[in-house]
Amino acid sequence: MMAARGARAPTSEQSWLEAAQAFIQETLCPAGKESSVQLTQLVIDCVKTAWLSQARNQGFILPLSYSFVSVQDLRTYQRLPCCSHLSWSSSAYQAWAQEAGPGGAPLPRERLLLLGTLTDLSGDLEQECKNGSLYVRDNTGILGCELIDLDLSWLGHLFLFPSWSYLPPARWNSSGEGHLELWGAPMPVFPLTVSPGPTTPIPVVYPEMASRLLRHRSKFRFVHPNLAGKLVRLSALVNSHRKTYFVLSLGSSSPAVSHVSIVVQVPAQLVWHHALWPGRSYVLTELRVSGICGHRYRVWTTSPSSQLLPLKPECVRELELELEGPVLEADPKLLPVPISSQDWTGKKGLIRNSRLLSYTGMVTSVLNEPAGLYELDGQLGLCLAYQQFHSFRRVVRPGACLELQDVHLLQSVGGGTKRPVLAPCLGGAVQVRGFSRQKPKTQSSHQAHGASLYEQLVWEHQLGLPLYLWASKALEELACKLCPHVLRHHQFLQHSRPGNPGLGLQLLAPTLDILALPDSPIRNAQKEILEEPHHCPLQKYIRLQTPCSFPTLATLKEEGQSRAWASFDPKALLPLPEASHLPSCQLNHRLAWSWLRLLPSAFHPAQVLVGVLVASSQKGCLQLRDQSGSLPCLPLTKHSEPITDPRLTGCLVRTERFQLIVERDVRSNFPSWRELSMAGFIQKQQARVYVQFFLDGALILSVPRPFLRSATRSGHSQAEPTHPDGLHMGQSRLFLLYHKEALIKRNFCAPPGASLEAPQPTLSFHVSGSWLGGTQRKEGTGWGPLEPQGDEKKNQKVLLIFLGSSVRWFEFLHPGQVYRLVAPGPLTPALFKEGGSSCISQRPLELAGYASCLTVQDEWTLELERCQDIPDVLGIEKALPESSMTDFLSGNFTDSLVSFSAEILSRTLCEPLPAPLWTKPGSPGAARKCVKLTVALETADCGSLPHLCVYIEDPHLPPPLGLLPGARVYFKQLEKRVSSPSLPHIYLAELLQGRQAPFQATASCHIVSVFSLQLLWVCAHCTSLCLQGRCTHQGPTCPTQTSVSQANIRLLVEDGTAEAVVTCRDHHVAAALGLCPTEWTSLLECVRVPGRVALHFTGPGAQLESSAKIDEPLTLFLWTLCTSLSVLRPILLSFELERKPSKILPLEPPRLQRFQCGDFPLLTRVNPRLQLSCLSIQEQEHPSSLGAFAPSH
Ligand SMILES: [Zn+2]
Ligand SMILES: [Zn+2]
Repeated sequence: MMAARGARAPTSEQSWLEAAQAFIQETLCPAGKESSVQLTQLVIDCVKTAWLSQARNQGFILPLSYSFVSVQDLRTYQRLPCCSHLSWSSSAYQAWAQEAGPGGAPLPRERLLLLGTLTDLSGDLEQECKNGSLYVRDNTGILGCELIDLDLSWLGHLFLFPSWSYLPPARWNSSGEGHLELWGAPMPVFPLTVSPGPTTPIPVVYPEMASRLLRHRSKFRFVHPNLAGKLVRLSALVNSHRKTYFVLSLGSSSPAVSHVSIVVQVPAQLVWHHALWPGRSYVLTELRVSGICGHRYRVWTTSPSSQLLPLKPECVRELELELEGPVLEADPKLLPVPISSQDWTGKKGLIRNSRLLSYTGMVTSVLNEPAGLYELDGQLGLCLAYQQFHSFRRVVRPGACLELQDVHLLQSVGGGTKRPVLAPCLGGAVQVRGFSRQKPKTQSSHQAHGASLYEQLVWEHQLGLPLYLWASKALEELACKLCPHVLRHHQFLQHSRPGNPGLGLQLLAPTLDILALPDSPIRNAQKEILEEPHHCPLQKYIRLQTPCSFPTLATLKEEGQSRAWASFDPKALLPLPEASHLPSCQLNHRLAWSWLRLLPSAFHPAQVLVGVLVASSQKGCLQLRDQSGSLPCLPLTKHSEPITDPRLTGCLVRTERFQLIVERDVRSNFPSWRELSMAGFIQKQQARVYVQFFLDGALILSVPRPFLRSATRSGHSQAEPTHPDGLHMGQSRLFLLYHKEALIKRNFCAPPGASLEAPQPTLSFHVSGSWLGGTQRKEGTGWGPLEPQGDEKKNQKVLLIFLGSSVRWFEFLHPGQVYRLVAPGPLTPALFKEGGSSCISQRPLELAGYASCLTVQDEWTLELERCQDIPDVLGIEKALPESSMTDFLSGNFTDSLVSFSAEILSRTLCEPLPAPLWTKPGSPGAARKCVKLTVALETADCGSLPHLCVYIEDPHLPPPLGLLPGARVYFKQLEKRVSSPSLPHIYLAELLQGRQAPFQATASCHIVSVFSLQLLWVCAHCTSLCLQGRCTHQGPTCPTQTSVSQANIRLLVEDGTAEAVVTCRDHHVAAALGLCPTEWTSLLECVRVPGRVALHFTGPGAQLESSAKIDEPLTLFLWTLCTSLSVLRPILLSFELERKPSKILPLEPPRLQRFQCGDFPLLTRVNPRLQLSCLSIQEQEHPSSLGAFAPSH
């Protein structure tokens, strides 16, 4: 703050006058001239006059609290916006400040006296420096200024400015100049000489005659008429092709008569733009007719000697001219100009026309200053981007009053813009009619940059207004996502140059390319202003459907979560026939994991995924990051392969094709299926959200390096290269990766010198591979020759351990690929040879055949190497062990590890599994969490798809991203534990034929007889039997008295090749009995009272066991049903083997069995009975002819 606010008391009149004198001498006296006593006196008189104009100031002759300020002092010391009002009392200022407008602080008041010459000359040179701008100049410098009602006679005169505000340069203003807003009329220091009016009336022509004169130029070539009329139109001040000009149109008071346009392009006359008011009448003297380059028609232009005078009727007379020919000959410029129609064809019904109008209003908000977007009167949008609006930027802020002439009003432009938008084209002027009383708000970075990019969108990319407004919003959205941590604002909103497009534009380009009208004509300023009918980019528009949005990753995550929970429906997850038989614990298990996939089209507008791809050095996973946070991601290459190139880290990814995956984990205690619609039984729910996308359809942009590091390695400053010249030094060695272990927490002993705290399991992984050649040194940008190795045949097998922040390489390392391990910094001999730093003892390594073991240091990096560059890789690759699927499915597969590719069919949280499988020695009785995947193998040689179950247990939980139903996954070196083949259609006898038989299959067979049937009700909580709906459990009573029904049936089926005993459970029993759901429900209801009904049949004759009471109606009904043709019928059975085939054969040899065929007993050798579990039963549409042994009745 430069003003001497508190200095009032000690300042005497005398010292004030002395200071004034010194100031005037130095600042205002014309340079090189001697001190002018007269000037000093005139200035002080002028200050006094202004000061004393306020009655309450009469007590003091001089404004002692005010000090003089020079232009240079303002520019140098005044860093904050301020205003000064010489004659105002404090209460007058308070009242003025009260009306500063909504939501803004008023400009603070300084007590400063400003004097200077008002001029339109920016430099010392003449003419060339005039571009229509106004300045205040004193001996110390010059400052741009704005003045609302300029009187042209003021130019070049010295003034005292009693009321003004000063705004120091804004951040975007690279020229670093502040500017003045001059309130009210300035007070001349020297009395202005009033020029006497012309002695004789000026001869003038009126617009109508002027139009006709244009067409008779040959005759009146040498007539330079004066033109009089009312200002009906004023264009913007246009700068194109290094020429600045504007066009004004004069008309008569009667609107019926056409107006005539005058081009003003003489530099000294450009300042008229400040003085012209539409609606006022003027005389323009000494006009000339001039052709316009590239156009057929001619216009009036001013000559260097032309003058702009206010029209006073008493001072003019009409010039008499005699013109022949028709009065209203078609003017070539009135010919309709065809609008480039090809752009709009096919969209005819959608085209809207904007309205041209004039509007005066107050700016209430700045929406996006670099983009020229403001709010007017709290309800209208204002877009200045279609004008060259640089000069307005400093004035247009909340509180400023603007008059818009011939501005386009566009309503419902769409694209997310709700309110109507006013947008002036070059044909209409924007004039400041009142300065803002508000202090400009401090700009945030994104509000300060990007002006030239926005200009590019309008002037080069020719965006229409709806699309421009959307693009501006999208750029703001993207800047908020990415700046300033990923990129600085000025980088993001950089102007695009050919070959070097700015990042912001690159992210928008895919959308703009689709939506921008092709071949939009390049704007021609002269045509836009002069041509009639009017044609400009704002005239016609099509409502824009919001093409897409760029949500922050945090928003995307939240949205995904909220949708996942909104759509979580236990009833939908558990279809009824099955759910109704599930006891509580199984029911809740089945609900424990579910997932939702959201595609971009599920959002309105569609979402575009944008973020920086980083590999987390804490978790090892890949993430997309933006300002709002990070989202785990699974990028895949074209062929669904994982990514291998570490150079992708730090790249900006943009994709419209992605899947947002939400995995729901729910802990619930639903007593039974009946309560599934009640939310109260959900105890805990959490969601894991991540994205999957293909790199192929994505836009991958590299980000300038300095910002990358801070984004990827926040909190890992120790990983930065410590050597200043480390970038130019380094060594590397190639290796071929054989095998990668999972990324899990492992126990590592603390490295020597580490703290003595108990060792914590550390997230880590290791890979095994083979060195390819020796170490190489960095030479320039490449790598030097291989360092010779001692022994060529030496074992090159190496184990690399990744822990700490080097787990970030996990996602990029894949078997079969060749990588270059790079250690930056000065050379360390034998760096890649020994495993000195490793904590793994040497002995097990030797046993495993490793020559060395290395811990990968944090600052080391990995590069993917192209295999074809390395000659001996292919040979080695063939030597990698490969497991055959055929071997795997058969029992003689000796290796317990297996790799295969498969499609995931289902994923469930595992039910407690048989103890031998899951309880290892040392972890007694652990009922651990486990994820079960059912997968279909992809094999080339097998027509059917064998099915497998894959179990994932701790410490591999939670499972890796993307293990979802429908996904094709390559499982690498899984431990083979459980396998169960397929659903091909087979003959039952095939199951007896050996090891290649599938575990799951479908067969067309016939139900020969029923062995047993049991229907019961059990407690949903403890699964004890329920009698009359009450739990029979001894001991503490169960919390709920909910019971579920259960059922099982054992059937004998045969298909002509073999027979099998099939066990069906629960709802499959209904299918086996051929009952429809209502029949099944009522049957179960009948069982509720006895609690349990069991029937045992003694064999093919279907005799009831003596224990059963056949006289009971329910038992009798069931017996009848089980022996009737409605049960004993052909079916299509899907099953799985209850026992592995290897356990069936050869343990049970064929045995002899007696059959009763009519009256003849038959003895025949039959194979052992297969034991099958029913997966589903369907009715045979065409009864199988294989049912040769159908029982006869
Ligand atoms: Zn227009
Ligand atoms: Zn119970």
